[in-house]
Amino acid sequence: MTQRRTGRCLCGAVAFEVTGVPREPVACHCSQCRRTSGHYAAFAVAPLAELKLTESVGLKWYRSSESAERGFCSECGSSLFWKPSGQDTIAFAAGCLDEPSGMVLQGHIFAADKGDYYALDDGLPVYPEGDGGALAVQTSRLA
Ligand SMILES: [Zn+2]
Repeated sequence: MTQRRTGRCLCGAVAFEVTGVPREPVACHCSQCRRTSGHYAAFAVAPLAELKLTESVGLKWYRSSESAERGFCSECGSSLFWKPSGQDTIAFAAGCLDEPSGMVLQGHIFAADKGDYYALDDGLPVYPEGDGGALAVQTSRLA
Protein backbone atom coordinates (compact mmCIF):
# COMPACT_ATOMS: atom_id res chain seq x y z
CA MET A 1 0.00 0.00 0.00
CA THR A 2 1.50 3.30 -1.06
CA GLN A 3 0.95 6.33 1.08
CA ARG A 4 1.53 9.87 -0.05
CA ARG A 5 1.46 13.01 2.01
CA THR A 6 2.23 16.56 1.02
CA GLY A 7 3.27 19.53 3.10
CA ARG A 8 4.60 23.03 2.73
CA CYS A 9 5.69 26.16 4.54
CA LEU A 10 3.41 29.13 5.01
CA CYS A 11 4.38 30.84 1.75
CA GLY A 12 5.02 27.79 -0.43
CA ALA A 13 8.72 28.43 -1.09
CA VAL A 14 9.38 25.05 0.55
CA ALA A 15 7.16 22.08 -0.23
CA PHE A 16 7.61 18.35 0.20
CA GLU A 17 6.09 15.00 -0.44
CA VAL A 18 6.39 11.95 1.79
CA THR A 19 5.74 8.47 0.54
CA GLY A 20 6.00 5.25 2.47
CA VAL A 21 5.02 4.89 6.09
CA PRO A 22 6.37 7.64 8.35
CA ARG A 23 6.73 7.34 12.09
CA GLU A 24 3.82 9.04 13.82
CA PRO A 25 4.50 12.53 15.20
CA VAL A 26 5.98 13.10 18.63
CA ALA A 27 5.95 16.46 20.38
CA CYS A 28 9.36 17.71 21.45
CA HIS A 29 9.53 20.23 24.27
CA CYS A 30 13.28 20.87 24.27
CA SER A 31 14.35 24.50 24.37
CA GLN A 32 15.61 24.40 20.76
CA CYS A 33 12.28 23.14 19.43
CA ARG A 34 10.43 25.64 21.56
CA ARG A 35 12.48 28.57 20.31
CA THR A 36 12.42 27.61 16.66
CA SER A 37 8.72 26.77 16.55
CA GLY A 38 7.45 29.38 18.97
CA HIS A 39 5.79 26.73 21.16
CA TYR A 40 6.71 23.07 20.93
CA ALA A 41 7.36 21.01 17.84
CA ALA A 42 5.51 17.94 16.59
CA PHE A 43 7.72 16.00 14.19
CA ALA A 44 7.01 12.86 12.22
CA VAL A 45 9.96 10.91 10.82
CA ALA A 46 10.60 9.42 7.40
CA PRO A 47 13.56 7.72 5.75
CA LEU A 48 15.46 10.36 3.77
CA ALA A 49 14.74 8.48 0.56
CA GLU A 50 10.99 8.79 1.12
CA LEU A 51 10.88 12.58 1.56
CA LYS A 52 11.13 14.48 -1.69
CA LEU A 53 11.39 18.26 -1.89
CA THR A 54 8.91 19.48 -4.50
CA GLU A 55 9.91 23.12 -3.91
CA SER A 56 13.09 24.21 -2.18
CA VAL A 57 13.73 27.76 -3.36
CA GLY A 58 13.25 29.07 0.19
CA LEU A 59 14.91 26.25 2.08
CA LYS A 60 17.80 27.12 4.39
CA TRP A 61 19.54 24.87 6.90
CA TYR A 62 20.62 25.95 10.35
CA ARG A 63 23.03 23.78 12.34
CA SER A 64 21.32 23.87 15.71
CA SER A 65 23.70 21.46 17.40
CA GLU A 66 26.63 19.21 16.60
CA SER A 67 24.23 16.40 15.92
CA ALA A 68 21.49 18.02 13.88
CA GLU A 69 20.41 20.66 11.40
CA ARG A 70 17.05 22.38 11.13
CA GLY A 71 15.46 23.26 7.82
CA PHE A 72 13.37 26.39 7.57
CA CYS A 73 11.91 28.70 4.95
CA SER A 74 13.99 31.82 4.49
CA GLU A 75 11.00 33.61 2.96
CA CYS A 76 8.30 33.07 5.57
CA GLY A 77 10.22 31.63 8.53
CA SER A 78 8.35 28.34 8.81
CA SER A 79 10.20 25.60 10.65
CA LEU A 80 9.91 22.40 8.61
CA PHE A 81 12.67 19.86 9.16
CA TRP A 82 14.99 18.40 11.75
CA LYS A 83 17.77 16.33 10.28
CA PRO A 84 20.12 14.29 12.46
CA SER A 85 23.68 14.23 11.15
CA GLY A 86 24.94 11.01 9.67
CA GLN A 87 21.57 9.29 9.68
CA ASP A 88 19.28 8.41 6.82
CA THR A 89 16.14 9.82 8.40
CA ILE A 90 14.53 13.24 8.44
CA ALA A 91 11.92 14.63 10.81
CA PHE A 92 9.25 16.83 9.28
CA ALA A 93 6.86 19.17 11.05
CA ALA A 94 3.40 17.65 11.35
CA GLY A 95 1.94 21.15 11.36
CA CYS A 96 3.17 21.72 7.81
CA LEU A 97 1.24 18.76 6.40
CA ASP A 98 -1.74 19.27 4.16
CA GLU A 99 -4.84 17.75 5.68
CA PRO A 100 -6.08 15.18 6.29
CA SER A 101 -2.66 14.20 7.64
CA GLY A 102 -3.83 10.74 8.66
CA MET A 103 -1.44 10.96 11.59
CA VAL A 104 -1.89 10.86 15.35
CA LEU A 105 0.36 12.45 17.97
CA GLN A 106 1.99 9.71 20.05
CA GLY A 107 3.43 11.49 23.05
CA HIS A 108 5.73 14.12 24.48
CA ILE A 109 9.50 14.07 24.80
CA PHE A 110 12.00 16.30 26.63
CA ALA A 111 9.17 17.34 28.91
CA ALA A 112 11.74 18.27 31.56
CA ASP A 113 12.59 21.26 29.33
CA LYS A 114 9.02 22.26 28.56
CA GLY A 115 7.79 25.82 28.89
CA ASP A 116 6.40 26.91 32.24
CA TYR A 117 3.26 28.41 30.72
CA TYR A 118 1.41 25.25 29.70
CA ALA A 119 0.47 21.85 31.08
CA LEU A 120 0.80 18.43 29.51
CA ASP A 121 -2.55 16.89 30.29
CA ASP A 122 -3.72 15.21 27.09
CA GLY A 123 -3.18 11.73 28.51
CA LEU A 124 -0.42 10.81 26.07
CA PRO A 125 2.86 9.34 27.36
CA VAL A 126 5.28 11.96 28.70
CA TYR A 127 9.04 11.41 28.80
CA PRO A 128 11.35 13.79 30.71
CA GLU A 129 14.02 13.26 28.04
CA GLY A 130 14.05 11.04 24.94
CA ASP A 131 11.61 8.16 24.62
CA GLY A 132 14.27 5.58 23.86
CA GLY A 133 12.31 4.50 20.83
CA ALA A 134 9.18 3.65 22.78
CA LEU A 135 7.03 6.01 20.69
CA ALA A 136 8.29 4.78 17.34
CA VAL A 137 4.90 3.83 15.98
CA GLN A 138 4.41 3.84 12.28
CA THR A 139 1.22 5.05 10.74
CA SER A 140 -1.00 2.88 8.64
CA ARG A 141 -4.05 5.03 8.43
CA LEU A 142 -3.77 6.54 4.98
CA ALA A 143 -4.53 4.30 2.10
ZN1 LIG B 1 7.88 29.91 3.10
